[in-house]
Amino acid sequence: MRVLGIETSCDETGVAVYDTAPGGGLLADALYSQVAMHAEYGGVVPELASRDHTRKLLPLVEQVLADADMARGELDGIAYTAGPGLVGALMVGAATAHGMARALNIPVLGVHHMEGHLLAPMLEDEAPAFPFVALLVSGGHTQLVAVKGLGEYRLLGESVDDAAGEAFDKTAKMLRLPYPGGPHVAKLAKQGDPGRFRFPRPMTDRPGLDFSFSGLKTHTLTAIRKLDDAGELTSRGRADIARAFEDAVVDTMVIKCRRALDDTGLKRLVVAGGVSANVRLREGLDQACAKRRAGVFYPRGRFCTDNGAMIAYVGARRLETGERDVTGQMQATPRWPLEQLSAPDYAGTK
Ligand code: ATP
Ligand code: MG
Ligand code: FE
Repeated sequence: MRVLGIETSCDETGVAVYDTAPGGGLLADALYSQVAMHAEYGGVVPELASRDHTRKLLPLVEQVLADADMARGELDGIAYTAGPGLVGALMVGAATAHGMARALNIPVLGVHHMEGHLLAPMLEDEAPAFPFVALLVSGGHTQLVAVKGLGEYRLLGESVDDAAGEAFDKTAKMLRLPYPGGPHVAKLAKQGDPGRFRFPRPMTDRPGLDFSFSGLKTHTLTAIRKLDDAGELTSRGRADIARAFEDAVVDTMVIKCRRALDDTGLKRLVVAGGVSANVRLREGLDQACAKRRAGVFYPRGRFCTDNGAMIAYVGARRLETGERDVTGQMQATPRWPLEQLSAPDYAGTK
């Protein structure tokens, strides 16, 4: 089954074709990032995001079909991100997907953006087998999830305030780095002295798998102000702060992942979402998992952040079981907890 995937939940227009047939896999994918446009405002402007998706989506669909050497009529299904995300942005993908599916007379399905992130490592040659623990770390989410199978998700813990990516972005802003800040903070941290500051590892001194990053953000702001007052907010000082911040986030996530593996007794860890691109986070988790003889799995760099490939993959896995949207009922759900998902009804599998 060849499925077109469409991602428009935020500031990336992503399109891909995934083929479930043996020897198939990802046939083509393309991404248009709006980051440069939003950078001017220091964050995503929802109305501009929707408008840009309308401009870029159909040309990207044409490009991906050409790259896959396919005609539209050769598609067997369409999947789109139905939520969570910005409602106007979601509606562009949903309306396009439903319109195309109606014209081509093929099934269409709205999928969950975080299920896309969660299963993005399935696109790699060394894909994880179920069950596993997943750490989802993105711009809007920080969650630990026990994953039994497709659609079988049990939330183990999550951030009670800011998401990890959001904390990176806010720290970048405080350090006057461009948006989105994660990669910039990571780059600056490389030049920092790890011994100069020690920031707190929030919520690691008590049991449980929840996270909190807003206190760390305040701590970072206070440290920046102190340096500034002392006339020491030099490039060296800023790098030392970036390093202390990154160390604190990485350490916190490593501690919680170790705990989640111990609590569940599972031997595989999947890490996905934009922050999973962070090199020092990967180093920390690789080490922790090696010690426990647990396997650790990540998406390739460009599939850590938003992309169409992960949506095509999840859509294909669900569409092939017979799951689909009711004809003419497009979905755009800005808030949608991952635990509300369920496994597809495999009885429908042909
Ligand atoms: P969500 O998926 O929760 O709706 P989103 O789609 O905006 O949010 P993603 O696209 O998965 O999030 O990830 C973007 C986030 O990842 C941003 O906050 C960005 O700063 C962060 N990020 C990207 N690369 C890195 C990196 N190398 N280190 C730290 N953070 C990073
Ligand atoms: Mg983005
Ligand atoms: Fe995302």
